[in-house]
Amino acid sequence: MTGSLVVVGTGPGRPELMTPATQAAIARATDLVGYGPYLDRIPAANPAQRRHASDNRVELLRARHALALAAEGRDVVVVSGGDPGVFAMAAAVFEALETGDPAWLSLDIRVEPGVTAMLAAAAAVGAPLGGDFCALSLSDNLKSWSTIERRLKAAAEADFVIALYNPASKARPHQLAHAFDVLRAAKAAETPVLFVRAAGTAEVKVVETTLADADAAVADMRTLIIIGASTTRRVGRWFYTPRSERSAA
Ligand code: SAH
Repeated sequence: MTGSLVVVGTGPGRPELMTPATQAAIARATDLVGYGPYLDRIPAANPAQRRHASDNRVELLRARHALALAAEGRDVVVVSGGDPGVFAMAAAVFEALETGDPAWLSLDIRVEPGVTAMLAAAAAVGAPLGGDFCALSLSDNLKSWSTIERRLKAAAEADFVIALYNPASKARPHQLAHAFDVLRAAKAAETPVLFVRAAGTAEVKVVETTLADADAAVADMRTLIIIGASTTRRVGRWFYTPRSERSAA
């Protein structure tokens, strides 16, 4: 098989935050496959390049389609937002590979890293990820709420800084409020909570609050939430987590 498939992420939004390696992969692609709004972020490269836009909820079908195109000899780029391996298309591509035509295993498949939302959000407020941290998706499309709750409790217990992806949607408005309740049971009331909307874009908006006061209604699907560890603190306009757990407050 001669086709290729590269899975890329466009970064959080600002064109400068798309890596040159990702730009190069996109420039040489014959076919771009992805969720419509992510494809729209990519300026038209050449008129011969085909774009296959799809709905956000059909990841596995989109991944199979991309692999089938590569198997026909096309040079396909699958486009995600942020980093393609973080709650995004790269895993769907490998799942499609695992369950698909065994001949696809000989395709030239590659993943390019991108700037994930968590990194852009952290940079917008200072350095809250300076200590150990974890990332969770609150989307329960693909896992049960009891799994999410168990992981939130464990993350709170371990005193990680927590980055929450997919914090809210119209389909599940109450879950984030439940998530805050779970965290309040295990973490201090004054723990910093940072809602960062549209990180890494010109429209970035930060809401700083505490776990006691955190209001789930602040978040939407373009928001990433950072919840501090016990050492996360404010200095001037910024928030940071010291690298040493012994550094003085
Ligand atoms: N692959 C993406 C994440 C996809 S999950 C990445 O690496 O960033 C989608 C979630 O990511 C959104 O619900 C939101 O929580 C977060 N997100 C994506 N872009 C964002 C941005 N510019 N600012 C804040 N959060 C963002």
